[in-house]
Amino acid sequence: MKFIDEFRSSELATGLIASIKRRSRTPSRLMEFCGGHTVTIFRNGIRQVLPPHLEMVSGPGCPVCVTANADIDKAIALSRSPGIIIATFGDMLKVPGSNSSLQEAQASGSDVRMVYSTMDAIDIARENSDKSVVFLGIGFETTAPTIAASITWAKKENLHNYYLLSLNKLSPPAIRAILDSGESILNGLICPGHVSTITGSHPWGEIAREYHIPCVISGFEPLDILQCIQMLVDQIETGAARVEIAYRRGVRPEGNLAALKLMETVFEPAPANWRGIGNLPASGLKLKKEYQRFDAELAFDIPAEPATEASGCICGEILRGTSTPEDCPLFATNCTPEHPVGPCMVSSEGTCSAYYLYRGSYAG
Ligand code: SF4
Repeated sequence: MKFIDEFRSSELATGLIASIKRRSRTPSRLMEFCGGHTVTIFRNGIRQVLPPHLEMVSGPGCPVCVTANADIDKAIALSRSPGIIIATFGDMLKVPGSNSSLQEAQASGSDVRMVYSTMDAIDIARENSDKSVVFLGIGFETTAPTIAASITWAKKENLHNYYLLSLNKLSPPAIRAILDSGESILNGLICPGHVSTITGSHPWGEIAREYHIPCVISGFEPLDILQCIQMLVDQIETGAARVEIAYRRGVRPEGNLAALKLMETVFEPAPANWRGIGNLPASGLKLKKEYQRFDAELAFDIPAEPATEASGCICGEILRGTSTPEDCPLFATNCTPEHPVGPCMVSSEGTCSAYYLYRGSYAG
């Protein structure tokens, strides 16, 4: 545990907090893109130790939360088709679509299976050659390479019954959309560590230059976040706007070239529908022509009903950083982790779930 303990040392944290307080003068709003960062910030009470003029804003980096109801409805409709097995990561099961969830579909007879990796889904396809197995591709650049690997594997093995419903998303277009809208004034970005392990730092470098906003890539331990905030404060106070890496043990500037190559081999950018943000060009991934036989949208006739949103749920505003869960009239009353109304309460990385879990301990 020595390695982990070094990133949780209270002595080092005290020094970083003092340094942030000493150097920070300018009122600033810092957005953490990633739901994993949101959880670290809440779990360790980081909001409470910052000077009051430094405001933390949670962003759209929870993959389950940004999946649009229309796409969840598609997955549920597919699960009701005869002969189809849906394979999905566990977080997706409870997420409500327009009228129900995959868990409810499962309870009423659909074959929906939770998997821990894409290779589990490949195994299910191998063991059920008389059925079609559809893997739900949810996630950002972090999960896309393993999904791409499953497709190349299925092709190599000539697995005729494995399909992908690609709902994968790319992170930088969402941040650009938030910055372009001007709805939420931001002075610095805590950029996602795991995503950047794959992409490298250059997508955030371009955003820093184009929008003149400081960008620092952070890891997921409390000291990572504090160091990241200190680096953002330094940039803000000196008028700089560049990308820096506060997570050197995980991120190289060039990213993971093998993973990027795998993604580029299998996928190409495509428009994607983001909850709360809308349709963004080139912000999703679709299978390239040579892999289209694995595309569930092309292989199956998926009934499409108009999607509806849960009345009163403001997940979209929360994902854009324009509201907090406390602005939602349903928070902690009609909407709790046991009975979630929207995805931001379902996911362990959702902002509403973090607010709920640590309510009473944060400064809003
Ligand atoms: Fe939606 Fe529940 Fe969050 Fe309100 S508290 S925004 S209903 S998920």
